[in-house]
Amino acid sequence: TSDTPAHVPLRPAVEALPPYVPGARPTSGEQLWKLSSNENPYAPLPSVVEAIARAAAETNRYPDMYATELVEALAAFVGVDPEQVVVGNGSVAVLAHLLNAVVDAGDEVVFPWRSFEAYPIAVSVAGGRSVTVPLGADGRLDLPAMAAAVTDRTRVILVCTPNNPTGPVVHADELDELLAAVPQDVMVVIDEAYLEFVRDAAVPDAVALLARHDNVVLLRTLSKAYGLAGLRVGYAIAAPRLAAGIRAVSTPFGVSHVAQQAALASLEPTAQAELMERVDALVAERARVQAALREQGWDLPDSQANFVWFPLGERTMECAAQARRAGVLVRPFAGDGLRVSIGEVEANDAFLEVAATWL
Ligand code: PMP
Repeated sequence: TSDTPAHVPLRPAVEALPPYVPGARPTSGEQLWKLSSNENPYAPLPSVVEAIARAAAETNRYPDMYATELVEALAAFVGVDPEQVVVGNGSVAVLAHLLNAVVDAGDEVVFPWRSFEAYPIAVSVAGGRSVTVPLGADGRLDLPAMAAAVTDRTRVILVCTPNNPTGPVVHADELDELLAAVPQDVMVVIDEAYLEFVRDAAVPDAVALLARHDNVVLLRTLSKAYGLAGLRVGYAIAAPRLAAGIRAVSTPFGVSHVAQQAALASLEPTAQAELMERVDALVAERARVQAALREQGWDLPDSQANFVWFPLGERTMECAAQARRAGVLVRPFAGDGLRVSIGEVEANDAFLEVAATWL
């Protein structure tokens, strides 16, 4: 009627979206350790900062839309054809794009839960239906249950390994069984955001899998091991036909010139070597933290990533508040558990003191 204000209706799926809660950040002036977003505690390498400065002076021009040089560098690094690589504004954008490329209204996407909180959001935005499969013991993915959840409406399965926020990896034999059980027309996305931190030898060689299964897509990022979270560079590796589909729905000019140049500088062999030494140091620090926690009496999932998971249930928010009072920002998932990133030695020590009081 005339006195009813007109509202632009949001799509019902958008009205119903769960919020994406980012890790807490210190406000200006606050001295807090930030262990809330699985970031790399090291500042970018000088060579990367130089590349950023050079690129900054050229930002009156649009970036190379297809990031040709970066795609070629990534392809050479991974050992695939450039046709198989698609970059995006963080792997979270690449995830959205690949879902948009294959999910139609009402199609199902199977993923573990709890896992990366962007999954249910990206699935709903794409028009799909989330089919969540509970984690098994010790925060591990239950791949047989995920395979059993596939129906003729399933278009995509998301396999997060290491799983964020619990930390364990999927083993090669488990993934082989899943791939054998799942129809060839279902995309199987292996989200390897924390790949470089993995030391468990039983993990699959995902690139080799890709050669055998053209429904497999790998999702990777320069946000974690490469320390470029603030610049947003992620990529997918897929069969050329799927890569072309993902590229077709990608935001035009989605990766900035500055981000492309910083990523290229990070892939230079000397930079790579230095960055992977830092990853080794973080992995050693993870081992130290896990050993200290075990010593305290904790029995936690085996994390192969740059974080640890405390299944604290109803005590989660209270523990996060206490950590903050002790100077540490962590990532609570209300009613479920706490995820604590591996950061600076002092930061980890500060959290270990908190953990000792929460057994
Ligand atoms: N996948 C997983 C499992 C993650 O934990 C994250 C970051 N939290 C991402 C993807 C996205 O990372 P980015 O968009 O920074 O590449």
